[in-house]
Amino acid sequence: MSNTNTIAVEQAFDVEKIRNDFPILKQSVYGKPLVYLDNAATSQKPKMVIDTLCRYYTKTNANVHRGVHFLSEKASHEYEETREKVRQYINASSHEEIIFTRGTTEGINLVAQTFGRQNVREGDEILISTMEHHSNIVPWQMLCSEGRATLKIIPINDKGEIIVEEYERLLTPRTTLTAFAHVSNSLGTVNSVKHMIEIAHNKNVPVLIDGAQAMPHYRIDVRDLDADFYSFSSHKMFGPTGIGVLYGKKSFLESMPPYQGGGDMIKSVTFEKTLYNDLPYKFEAGTPNIADTIAFGAAIDYLGALDFESIQEYEHELLEYATERLSAIEGINIIGTAEHKASVISFTLEGVHPHDIGTILDREGIAIRTGHHCAQPVMQRFGVPATARISFALYNTREEVDALVNGISRVKEIFA
Ligand code: PLP
Repeated sequence: MSNTNTIAVEQAFDVEKIRNDFPILKQSVYGKPLVYLDNAATSQKPKMVIDTLCRYYTKTNANVHRGVHFLSEKASHEYEETREKVRQYINASSHEEIIFTRGTTEGINLVAQTFGRQNVREGDEILISTMEHHSNIVPWQMLCSEGRATLKIIPINDKGEIIVEEYERLLTPRTTLTAFAHVSNSLGTVNSVKHMIEIAHNKNVPVLIDGAQAMPHYRIDVRDLDADFYSFSSHKMFGPTGIGVLYGKKSFLESMPPYQGGGDMIKSVTFEKTLYNDLPYKFEAGTPNIADTIAFGAAIDYLGALDFESIQEYEHELLEYATERLSAIEGINIIGTAEHKASVISFTLEGVHPHDIGTILDREGIAIRTGHHCAQPVMQRFGVPATARISFALYNTREEVDALVNGISRVKEIFA
């Protein structure tokens, strides 16, 4: 991108204004300004999310759905308001298609344990890709081992892209479901999910998308994608931990058995027979995470007010800048060089273990992640035990990339 374009993007997108919304970014770590580059693990929270949590416990706290008193009605209203905000945000057809979960992981387990158990028979296949997070591998492994089905794996190329022809070939009449990430957390690859969903649907195979890493960077329209299930976590999209969403098409959710039993997911109970509740409550047993759900609503409001086109341009420019600067460092090898990437750069540095890179950078106030990023098969595919990973959010800056590059020079000096 030319300098003129860069300036234009920076003017359209006021990163300093955004940074002001995130109180945590103002602090120093070990006497150095905090540079937070671990956003793929979890994002920071804007003040309006933090304030909503505080206001909820100060003014509203009560259990939902069961009370006749003022506070319970208020809490129920705000809780359900978040469901409606999410529905609108992802363009689902109905609030019945928005199931609150603890996060992406629980959403995937829910589908594996309900839809999966109901439909997988001996000899059937579940198709996932090489680049999946463990949370989109292990639930399917568990299901397959229970039902004596087979887990099939779509290979990826050396750039870290799904080989779509192989995907198409691996979708067979035995495939009960295919599940893959929208954006890879370890490589940054953005998969062509709309196209891949179309291919699966042409073969009558339902699709679950792991949207954990896509939601903070893109405006997702589940109807446009035609995803059957789309699972994501609030904490990666500037909301609180412990709350997430499983979107599912009503036609699927209606025919699926409940996930867990307990309060709220029933209409009536006798010792002889229990009648299950309507959607979405059939899948929400027990007292939910009320406070975090309501604060998640504030995160959706925050995201909804942003101009995603300029955010995407800004983040893309930042990714290109960081890739260029890191590539210029001798000994750095970037793992994951897909044509379409989101804000993740995984790398190794010759002669230095990724954990040492992370520890030295930490002393410079720079937070990155090192290890296998819950994607051990990706590490095996690229023949490395671990990588160092930086991941951007909309509040990161070029100056922070410069600080990272200086930090890596420091690592090299120490290991010279
Ligand atoms: N899928 C991907 C691609 C992820 O990056 C993550 C978390 O890092 C998850 C799933 C699991 O998300 P959670 O731990 O919020 O359930």
